[in-house]
Amino acid sequence: MARIVMKFGGTSMAGTERIRVVAARVKREVDAGHEVAVVVSAMAGDTDRLVNFCREAAPLHDPKEYDVVVAAGEQITSGLLAITLQAMGVRARSWLGWQLPIRTSDAHSSARIEDIDTSGLIAAMSSGEVAVIPGFQGMTADDRVTTLGRGGSDTSAVAVAAAVKADRCDIYTDVDGVYTTDPRIVPRARKLAKVTYEEMLELASVGAKVLQTRSVGLAMKENVRIQVLSSFDDRDSADLPGTMIVGDDELGVEDMERQLITGIAHDKNEAKVTLTRVPDKPGAVASIFSPLAEASINVDMIIQNISHGTGSTDVTFTVPGAELARSLDLLGKAKEAIGYESLVHDTKVAKISVVGVGMRSHAGVASTMFSALAQRGINIQAITTSEIKVSVLIDEDETELAVRVLHTAYGLDAEVEAA
Ligand code: ADP
Ligand code: ASP
Ligand code: MG
Repeated sequence: MARIVMKFGGTSMAGTERIRVVAARVKREVDAGHEVAVVVSAMAGDTDRLVNFCREAAPLHDPKEYDVVVAAGEQITSGLLAITLQAMGVRARSWLGWQLPIRTSDAHSSARIEDIDTSGLIAAMSSGEVAVIPGFQGMTADDRVTTLGRGGSDTSAVAVAAAVKADRCDIYTDVDGVYTTDPRIVPRARKLAKVTYEEMLELASVGAKVLQTRSVGLAMKENVRIQVLSSFDDRDSADLPGTMIVGDDELGVEDMERQLITGIAHDKNEAKVTLTRVPDKPGAVASIFSPLAEASINVDMIIQNISHGTGSTDVTFTVPGAELARSLDLLGKAKEAIGYESLVHDTKVAKISVVGVGMRSHAGVASTMFSALAQRGINIQAITTSEIKVSVLIDEDETELAVRVLHTAYGLDAEVEAA
């Protein structure tokens, strides 16, 4: 007997028919004698719809009330799954974020889980009752509803798995594992049997949304065993070929010999901001980034051009698209203090990143990237690197082409079977 947490994403929960399929899968684990907690997402599209309602109600709305609205999608699916399980003869009940409770920070719309009270949960699970938990939601110390950021149900699942000391955390989604790149963009992407926590963390943080970045960081810290599996495949979980997220020491010889690059990700949600003719003197850059940092806006890629010979320089950087309006507002207010000439922005950009631990020991990864893009006439607007990642900013219209070209350039394309 094992204690397992199963998480089902939005496509897997989209409608009562799909929920029945999910319930049947949960029932199989219960029948096999396991203790089960299930974490569910809202039905696909519902969270977007709720976010839009908030925008329509008021473009600059109270984030506390935004959380009340957007957390509702998961409340519906958790109740529906409990009802469906009961109808199949499986004992089940829902445990909403405020009922457990799942305590979080008060950073509304991107709250962090601080503590989960598991007393009721563990008692229920050990009595054979399935606990159905809405993902994405929690509650502050002063009892306000919070949400964990888009894609946050993955993090709820990992946090629950850590809190109840689960043997496994199975993330069921609409693809059957983690691929070398988004299989919806590159049909010849290859499924990876194993990915290290570190690689997955980096891939997720640069746009591979198959797992929310925070969920991977948490799993790494708490040693939670995560598998990514398809909810659209009928086989038993033991026979499902998915992707296991593992520690470095668990990579086998066959994995060691894999490609230098583990995967390629893209992110269309960044926006580029340029300040022209910023005074080229000490403190100028600090005067740009301090107000953004104080407002908790994450600046990603930064380039400062050479001086114009006139004692001024252009500074370009990227911020999350959702933070662009706030960034422009703050920089507009600081115009005099910074002393720039004009403020321009571009949302039609995409960040393409290649990730792999092999980069630590091999040179030339970046130059392969630059040459492959150059050969297809794709212009690079900004570059950043880390120990196991190289990212470039390009025109958004060239995203799919760039991902395909790089996938081939790094030898990641799957063999096509001879007809
Ligand atoms: P869920 O609703 O189950 O949480 P998501 O839509 O959040 O599912 O994540 C699954 C999607 O992630 C896939 O449909 C796929 O398009 C996308 N994806 C992006 N990069 C990758 C990758 N490297 N491997 C697999 N899927 C990826
Ligand atoms: N429903 C939320 C979202 O769409 C959380 C999740 O699905 O993980 O972002
Ligand atoms: Mg998701």
